[in-house]
Amino acid sequence: MPVLISSCLLGIECRYDGGHSRAEEIIEVAEKIQFIPICPEQLGGLSTPRAPSCIVKGDGEGVLSGHARVINSLGKDVTEAFIKGAQESLKLARLTGATKAILKNKSPSCGLNTPYCETDTGYGLGVTAALLLTAGIKIIEINPEGKNKDVIEKLRLL
Ligand code: SF4
Repeated sequence: MPVLISSCLLGIECRYDGGHSRAEEIIEVAEKIQFIPICPEQLGGLSTPRAPSCIVKGDGEGVLSGHARVINSLGKDVTEAFIKGAQESLKLARLTGATKAILKNKSPSCGLNTPYCETDTGYGLGVTAALLLTAGIKIIEINPEGKNKDVIEKLRLL
């Protein structure tokens, strides 16, 4: 089955700073999984490198419902680009039949529990993570600096 994956986890240099977030355990299983790489921020039309962004007045769910905005470090409102990137990512899931995703942590797009948002807990969903969950896509969040063993088994159990 195809699985969406944050491109930066595969070593693609799509991060805001022009780098990647390669996760070795993901690379090790790349030949066994039909990965569909996505970088929602690039799919939304943002450049690489780009100014990093935070979600203000909420998290990704708030952005999708129109109550929160995404603002970059230069003070520019990039909400529409984040929403477009989420929609394009979901489009790829629909086109390929992917029902699961492996997404990078701590991202205002991809994170499930990202610190870059204003919520009561200080953590929340990224915009793409929120849209994919709403659409019924199941998500594993990966910390590229942590231990990510048994990725295939975790996908199977999702
Ligand atoms: S975390 Fe998501 S949006 Fe950020 S660089 Fe990686 S794939 Fe792109």
